[in-house]
Amino acid sequence: MIFKMCKDCGETYNEEFFNWRNSKTGKRQPRCTLCEQTKRDNKKRGDRWLFKAVWTLTYHTKALNIRRGDLTKKFGWNVHKMARDAERAFKAPCPYCGKLFKEMRNGLADITLVIDNINKAPVYGENTRWACNACNGRKGKLSTSKWHRYLRHLKAWKAQQKKIRERFKVLQGAT
Ligand SMILES: [Zn+2]
Ligand SMILES: [Zn+2]
Repeated sequence: MIFKMCKDCGETYNEEFFNWRNSKTGKRQPRCTLCEQTKRDNKKRGDRWLFKAVWTLTYHTKALNIRRGDLTKKFGWNVHKMARDAERAFKAPCPYCGKLFKEMRNGLADITLVIDNINKAPVYGENTRWACNACNGRKGKLSTSKWHRYLRHLKAWKAQQKKIRERFKVLQGAT
């Protein structure tokens, strides 16, 4: 039995857990099969976010009726940065409604890039938010001032809900 150390996890396994690189010369892959799979999955995941970023850029080019070069050069829409930001934002709550993306269940379709203030220049990161689709839809139907009133209402409502929960806890504790 031949043992071999995996390049990624550093563990030593029976060589059957390393795929063939070339079965004629007897060479095997430097990574164990599990690390190889993990690497492939990560790459696929990265590609998905990059695809999403490219699609988002194309979509906004049309929606804003602006040249692609203006978005990328003037306003900092870099697809690689966008892909990383979107992936990170997906792990956090929606910046508007505070709901968690992972609880929405439509995967990447749940997150979208929103221009925060449509009356201002679409500077990436400054005037854009990776937010949920529901918020984007709601925002699209409202004027900027109505949207801002809605956000204030939502904030007040959430604070009120928190108060109710706390009061309920106190009541439960009393019985
Ligand atoms: Zn390994
Ligand atoms: Zn939202």
